Amino acid sequence: MIKVKNLKKNFKDNEVLKGINLDIKKGEVVVILGPSGSGKSTLLRCLNYLETPTNGEIQISDLKVDAKSIKKKDIYNLRKESAMVFQHYNLFNNKTVLENVREALLVVKKLPFDEATKISKEALTKVGMIEKSDFYPSTLSGGQMQRVSIARAIALNPNVILFDEPTSALDPELVGEVLSVIKDLAKEHRTMIIVTHEMSFAKEVSDRIIFMADGYIVEEGTPLEIFESPKEERTKQFLKRLKSE
Ligand code: ADP
Ligand code: MG
Repeated sequence: MIKVKNLKKNFKDNEVLKGINLDIKKGEVVVILGPSGSGKSTLLRCLNYLETPTNGEIQISDLKVDAKSIKKKDIYNLRKESAMVFQHYNLFNNKTVLENVREALLVVKKLPFDEATKISKEALTKVGMIEKSDFYPSTLSGGQMQRVSIARAIALNPNVILFDEPTSALDPELVGEVLSVIKDLAKEHRTMIIVTHEMSFAKEVSDRIIFMADGYIVEEGTPLEIFESPKEERTKQFLKRLKSE
């Protein structure tokens, strides 16, 4: 479903991704762990060309692109394969909840208005936000805004949903409602890549954990393998530090 080969990204002479290889199956939920600055966000952003990779091949579903030869049209098509949920929601403040979810269905997918509305309402129902359809983001809590941005992602019915620290900006009491929505999506076996620091959530929700450091994948395995018997020293240190926090 998703294949990444030798993905590299430099920002000037700072080599942030140093040759990432990924192979993710349809329906798999993959959690990416790693210290701050290890390249997790850059990796997610390269998968939809929000950042342009310096080198490497990305395949999502049937679409394969190579950094050396990619065309504008490929980028446009690649972006339709995934949807991203950001730490800071990225909602339009001048649009209502429903309008936020519907926007890309009208503009990108070019669906008829009624169909786009129906799909948006289904997505909002799924995340428990249908009652707030006509509210503006500024009147919502962070947890509610994040649930709207998840609705916006699932409404697009992408092949993969990318989550970049979806609960990191939230007050602790609002984290649970967002994680619970993501857990529901995992139960439906949607393909997801989730960057998170929520360890018990990671353990519960993921089929596979990838540990990144310094632009490399240091180690990957099942949650049991990574949490109970990590092999690499860097992984052990990282988990130990988290436990003592
Ligand atoms: P993580 O998400 O794991 O914390 P990032 O992918 O955000 O890590 O960042 C990895 C490295 O890339 C950091 O050193 C960061 O400073 C650098 N970086 C990220 N985005 C940019 C950018 N747009 N321009 C220059 N450097 C960047
Ligand atoms: Mg990040």
